[in-house]
Amino acid sequence: MTRLSKLNRSVAGRVAVVTGAAAGMGRATAWLLADEGAKVAALDVNRAGVTETVAAITDAGGTGRAVVCDVSDADAIDRAVAEVREELGPVDILINNAGITAAVTVDTPDFEDVWAAALEVNVTSQVRMVRACLDDLKRNGDGRIVNVASTEGIMATAEMSPYSVSKHGVVGLTRSLAVELGRHGITVNAVCPGPIRTAMTDSIPEKDKQTYARRRVPARRYGVPEEVAQITLSLVLPAASFINGAIVPVDGGHHAKSN
Ligand code: NAD
Repeated sequence: MTRLSKLNRSVAGRVAVVTGAAAGMGRATAWLLADEGAKVAALDVNRAGVTETVAAITDAGGTGRAVVCDVSDADAIDRAVAEVREELGPVDILINNAGITAAVTVDTPDFEDVWAAALEVNVTSQVRMVRACLDDLKRNGDGRIVNVASTEGIMATAEMSPYSVSKHGVVGLTRSLAVELGRHGITVNAVCPGPIRTAMTDSIPEKDKQTYARRRVPARRYGVPEEVAQITLSLVLPAASFINGAIVPVDGGHHAKSN
């Protein structure tokens, strides 16, 4: 059949950078983008993990490059993006996914260290990545950015203020940059995962996970990384050209439940 619609739903040949791609949602996103034909730069501070992520892409016949990068280091970000450009070409898609958890009460003595680290890794790194990739993203008028926030970016859990503030910051950054960069054809959106089974939630005992999910998540379970990756992919398609500044929960309905 001849196609009746005009917009393209393929990321084949696009250069995508995914931070925090050694594990969890970053790895799932890198794999999905590679499955869809994108050339994927997998950035992470964890060399062994990111090498494994890319080995799987290459073994499956895809194109990927592992780039070791600590996103809390501004110079390392600039070096990493230069390496991506050199190896794969200019960046078309940026997925700001790297993140750390930060659970601490506000009266804990080392609170300020935890606070500083959460803001640096979870939000400052995202704007640095955008700045490093910006000329590339602007060049064809179709750049795509997805920032990974959290339901903690639209709600709050006790004893997690550094994390929650950092993720509210991601939501604010997403809206600000959507407004600022829209005229360049760049879209900037955020996904807000709810509870997802990754290393970040590994230490929560299975029984507690199930109790929490039954009480707080309408889907009555934790999600898995690919469920978030699939929504991220939808937001970076060429066809997703008029969704900009959206904050998209991917949480089994967690944010919608009032009690
Ligand atoms: P994860 O721990 O499996 O993966 C995080 C990745 O980020 C790791 O590979 C880690 O090495 C990398 N990373 C951490 N600090 C880094 C740094 N300074 N430089 C480069 N890489 C760094 O966790 P995940 O659950 O897949 O987390 C991915 C994102 O999703 C994070 O932003 C997290 O805050 C967010 N999130 C997670 C959940 C959840 O329930 N798991 C829920 C909401 C949001």
